Amino acid sequence: MNGPLAMDDPPCPQPEPDLTLWGVVTAVQANYYWVSLDRPEGEPRPCAALLCIRRARLKKTGQRVMVGDRVQVADPDWEGQRGAIAAVDPRQTVLDRPPMANADQMLLVFAMAEPDLDPHQLSRFLVKAESTGLEVLLCLNKQDLVTDQTRRIWQHRLRQWGYDPLLISLRQEGSWADLQSRLQHRITVISGPSGVGKSSLINCLVPEAELRTSAVSGKLGRGRHTTRHVELFALPQGGLLADTPGFNQPDLTLTPADLGRCFPEIRRRLAQDSCQFKDCLHRDEPGCAVGIDWDRYDLYTTMVTEAEALQNSQPSRRSGQSAMKHKVGEGGEVHQEPLLQAKKYRRVSRRRQRQALEDFHYTTLDTAIDLDHLDDDSHEQRR
Ligand code: GDP
Ligand code: ZN
Repeated sequence: MNGPLAMDDPPCPQPEPDLTLWGVVTAVQANYYWVSLDRPEGEPRPCAALLCIRRARLKKTGQRVMVGDRVQVADPDWEGQRGAIAAVDPRQTVLDRPPMANADQMLLVFAMAEPDLDPHQLSRFLVKAESTGLEVLLCLNKQDLVTDQTRRIWQHRLRQWGYDPLLISLRQEGSWADLQSRLQHRITVISGPSGVGKSSLINCLVPEAELRTSAVSGKLGRGRHTTRHVELFALPQGGLLADTPGFNQPDLTLTPADLGRCFPEIRRRLAQDSCQFKDCLHRDEPGCAVGIDWDRYDLYTTMVTEAEALQNSQPSRRSGQSAMKHKVGEGGEVHQEPLLQAKKYRRVSRRRQRQALEDFHYTTLDTAIDLDHLDDDSHEQRR
């Protein structure tokens, strides 16, 4: 115990508490969190990541910890590669499905061929991506399979939609350098239909991902895509990439009014002019500022009709109730953020928790960690 220091006492050497240990949660399972630690220059840490529990105080206040959270880690046990999360930074953004904090952008990957680039499917993914309120980055892979002319036509068309796609081929070394620089120092969520080259891309961008995927498939006879959990991969140049298998089927549950905000063409026109009616759905209403002379107009109206049908089939959902909240930025631009449903902290049974942890341990790290010492409460009691 520390008593008050008498004036004459020599100063007692106390270990300085390390208040500088911060990192990002890269994976969550039950009540355990992998935290990838910040790497301050010139000060290498004994390990790059720690398997952490939450401090009791965070549990009591119901503070949830999500993948992507910036957290402060206390009491590092470098040898056992463990620690405890002591504080969580306020979140910049929150995604509901997959549950993830602080994502900066959504990377939508499609192929130019094999499978064919279908404008309707692409639009549905784009709208879903826009509905998160994150910046959307569009990447078209397999450019080696199409002619220059096809590339130009798509580029031109997508620019009209409001996107500037990055055309790459994983068969052409170096063609994804621009993409790499767009991912640097940012948290990016990757999405897109299957077969377009997402896994191949992740393996190119994150060398360790391949090892991990093959290790998992080897041991458990199943690959990364069977896991329901989001996991962040550290990019060698800085930045984090989230692979989200759960995001691959865009189930659009937007209201008709939300839909308009997910089309850059509509946003662009409304930034210049406003419609006569406040609740205009931009389907050729009188005094509509958007008009009908744009490529995706038919697709847009089809989606509005679908959204109306969905709304009418769900009477409990009040009309006009939005799945998103809108924030006005400094320059007057409107950002969308998904409205979140608060989920209460649920206590997981010990047995399930342990089982989950064993799976987790299996799938995320090959380093031997003694699971017997990872019990939440015993860790707390040792303090
Ligand atoms: P995912 O389902 O989106 O993860 O797609 P995969 O990464 O499994 O890739 C699907 C197939 O496309 C594989 O056979 C890859 O080898 C192939 N592929 C990936 N990128 C390219 C590319 O740039 N050009 C060509 N021709 N094939 C590619
Ligand atoms: Zn209108």
